[in-house]
Amino acid sequence: MMHTYERSEKLFNEAKQVILGGVNSPSRAYKGVGGGTPVFMNRGKGAYFWDEDGTRYIDYLAAYGPIIAGHAHPHITEAINAAAQDGLLYGTPTKYENKFASMLKEAMPALDRVRFVNSGTEAVMTTIRVARAFTNRTKIIKFAGCYHGHSDPVLVAAGSGPSTTGHPDSAGVTAATAAEMITVPFNDADALEQALEQFGEEIAAVLVEPIVGNFGIVEPEYGFLEKVNKLAKANGSLVIYDEVITAFRFMYGGAQDMLNVYPDLTAMGKIIGGGLPIGAYGGRLDIMEQVSPMGAAYQAGTMAGNPASMRAGIACLEVLREPGLYDRLDRLGARLEQGLQAAVEEAGVHACINRLGGALTIYFGVDSVTNYDEANASDTAMFAAFFKHMLQEQINLAPSKFEALFLTAAHTVADIDETIEAARRAFKAMN
Ligand code: PMP
Repeated sequence: MMHTYERSEKLFNEAKQVILGGVNSPSRAYKGVGGGTPVFMNRGKGAYFWDEDGTRYIDYLAAYGPIIAGHAHPHITEAINAAAQDGLLYGTPTKYENKFASMLKEAMPALDRVRFVNSGTEAVMTTIRVARAFTNRTKIIKFAGCYHGHSDPVLVAAGSGPSTTGHPDSAGVTAATAAEMITVPFNDADALEQALEQFGEEIAAVLVEPIVGNFGIVEPEYGFLEKVNKLAKANGSLVIYDEVITAFRFMYGGAQDMLNVYPDLTAMGKIIGGGLPIGAYGGRLDIMEQVSPMGAAYQAGTMAGNPASMRAGIACLEVLREPGLYDRLDRLGARLEQGLQAAVEEAGVHACINRLGGALTIYFGVDSVTNYDEANASDTAMFAAFFKHMLQEQINLAPSKFEALFLTAAHTVADIDETIEAARRAFKAMN
């Protein structure tokens, strides 16, 4: 059954001569699974994509989240084709921005006003600037292991405790920038309270993924997000939700709408672009009024709100609005979770599974995961072995133990069952 990756190997060798490291985003180089040749994909349709050697895979990467409707969804493809026909970019406002912003606001009532940017990175970066402008404060509290893009302020690792300011996670981020980021463990309201007490009026905002997607799928414990809001408010600090993964992932709306806990500002990306580059941020009117041209906090973009991304986003939300879509994702997710759980037990592999709706993470070698330390303690080598076996079985997972498997609206019960069978063989081979 062994298939080869000949063309991918050739293309990767060529890529390395012209693109640094051969990839344009580091996780694509399989860093999280011990390296190797990344598979070069050539074409996608529905729940599948095909690599350059012609092998078909069931896709659970979903491009790290955006492809919730499945690859080349006809309605989204049509919208993008129409946008290209009309001319891709004008540098003027268009009606599509109005329509898309209205759709977002209707789905997510906490967005009094929004602005469109081009990536999740830009969206989060700008919410931090706006929060600083509004509060006239400098420091931000984030949670260990949450990823918020690659802007300087958020490329900061966890300190050893709430009173420790971060150190840079990346060369090129200055110590002064890192000193403005305080990191506390997720799901630890006491640590947050201590940090807020210690830094008091220096804290502009608390930044959080309301449901974590970046050390696998980790839900907030009961009452945690309410506590975040209460503590931040009492300190005069804002709350920023990074919903780059979660917006429209679990329901038609954000995690905030699902959990009924609302932040002051929200950053989004991924799904809302229907596969094209996008980011968006928004929130309370009085805070958003800090942004240029109304206020003194600057944010701009040649591509911001471009018609193609707007029309793809509108089309994607139209697909997601179809009745029953999220129930179906949840049912498929449950089937996959139960099948994987049974296969884990059958093979006697030590692993646990976190799942919410159509997003799931399998952690090896640990009993449960509620924060970054527990996720980090999971077995990297076992995950790598699982990933590589599944790839041979033509099942494409995200190449890192910290990423989720994402279902799309195109996955079928047969795809799920095929995946479970493949996992059963993988677990047996690993033991
Ligand atoms: N925030 C979160 C929660 C993310 O998961 C990501 C990307 N994985 C980002 C921000 C950055 O988004 P982008 O890659 O579009 O810049």
